[in-house]
Amino acid sequence: MCGIVGIVDAGGVSFQLYYALYALQHRGQESAGISTFEGATLYTHKAQGLVAEVFNRHTLQELRGKAGIGHVRYPTTGSKIPENVQPFNFKYRGLTLSIAHNGNLVNTTELRGEYERRGQIFCTTTDTEIIGSIIADALRASKSMEDAVLLCMRRLRGSYATVALLNDAIYAFRDPLGIKPLCIGKLDQGYIVASESVAIDALDGTFIRDVRPGELVRIDESGLSSTQISTANRRAHCIFEYIYFARADSVMDGKLVYDVRRQIGQKLYETSPVEADLVSPVPDSGTAYAAGYAERSGIPFLEGLMKNRYMGRTFIMPTQKQRDRAVRIKLNTVRGNLKNKRVVLVDDSIVRGTTSRRIVKMIREAGADEVHLRVGSPPIIAPCYLGVDMPTRAELIASGREVEAVRESVGAASLVYIPLEDLVEATGFGELDICTGCLTGCYPVEIDGEKTSRCVVSYMGGSLQSDLSTFDSGKEET
Ligand code: AMP
Repeated sequence: MCGIVGIVDAGGVSFQLYYALYALQHRGQESAGISTFEGATLYTHKAQGLVAEVFNRHTLQELRGKAGIGHVRYPTTGSKIPENVQPFNFKYRGLTLSIAHNGNLVNTTELRGEYERRGQIFCTTTDTEIIGSIIADALRASKSMEDAVLLCMRRLRGSYATVALLNDAIYAFRDPLGIKPLCIGKLDQGYIVASESVAIDALDGTFIRDVRPGELVRIDESGLSSTQISTANRRAHCIFEYIYFARADSVMDGKLVYDVRRQIGQKLYETSPVEADLVSPVPDSGTAYAAGYAERSGIPFLEGLMKNRYMGRTFIMPTQKQRDRAVRIKLNTVRGNLKNKRVVLVDDSIVRGTTSRRIVKMIREAGADEVHLRVGSPPIIAPCYLGVDMPTRAELIASGREVEAVRESVGAASLVYIPLEDLVEATGFGELDICTGCLTGCYPVEIDGEKTSRCVVSYMGGSLQSDLSTFDSGKEET
């Protein structure tokens, strides 16, 4: 899980990239970075920390140029070491390439071994460096970014929404199944591509459209152009973006995330009505769900929990005792709203169960009579290999456990998950156009030891034109 952005703007890009990354901060808090290009120089500033900690006025002023890319990182592949902070830079004979990636490859080891045998030296442990290496390698041969991205799409297995800065042009591409989001907007004096539309809003830009799965978009000072590099017989948009990861005010692949969550909340009530005095969200991720639940049930929406907005990341606390204390500082109960009340508590998901258990206990301790837990996702039973930090089956509370056992473990009076069919309906996509790997254990790309739902990807063959009829169809990939 990461956030990416690319901007070309005649008025300069560093401050705009900074604000866009700020809008995408929820997608990754471990590190942030920006690369820009001017004249013949690639400028990069990146470090571990939040966007506001990594950049200041001075560092932004040093990032010169009218084209640039940015990244916020939430580590999935590769450990939390400074070398893994993106964007990554590659230089070769007058070409400078900087690259940033959101997603996760599942054939990293195989590709890395192959490129190492050919003499490539890797400086990081990330899959992103492999994408950069494939591109740089292909550019050495043909100097065509279309060829390079075609090679990427043929070789990479997994999810990749990517932005690249090649000298003063931005390239953005999305894997053939469109697993991770990427959209395009118009700015006063240029264009932006970003993981979520909220980054476009932050710059007062106008949303144009999503980058299509398998599409390569080029932006330079003369404007925007596009080449369809591959097509697939299905999509596989990440369901967890809608459930938890994306901001509720983002529009993603045609759907306002808030609407999807609100509808799930409505369906949660219809699935299993309960009598209660109030509907409370777990802030902030449960809010849109709770709004929908309250709306459909007629039970008042009332906040039973408050979140401290100024709380930093809890994982930096060195001991368990300090981490527990941090949770108490982060969330507190509104006692007056809870005492002697029957509470419907709505959250987006249960992963390990730690949060739910702790919150149910807090609400009980605040004097609530009953806590009915409602969850905006079906039980998470399998890990994610495609970019969401999801633990192993052994750590997932719902893996191999009945709902009743989960209910007992978290201490709720009742527990209801949204059924998968209702969730799919709320997204408005067909079941085959979303990736539900973490909910079903069946993935849209081939992963060792896991079930795969097959799909067919066709690649643009021969000379590269943006004409779909030149695709050689029938090349099967999973
Ligand atoms: P837990 O059940 O304690 O492991 O955590 C579940 C809560 O963490 C959910 O209610 C989400 O709000 C949040 N969450 C879900 N998935 C993730 C994730 N991959 N990374 C960080 N937080 C998450």
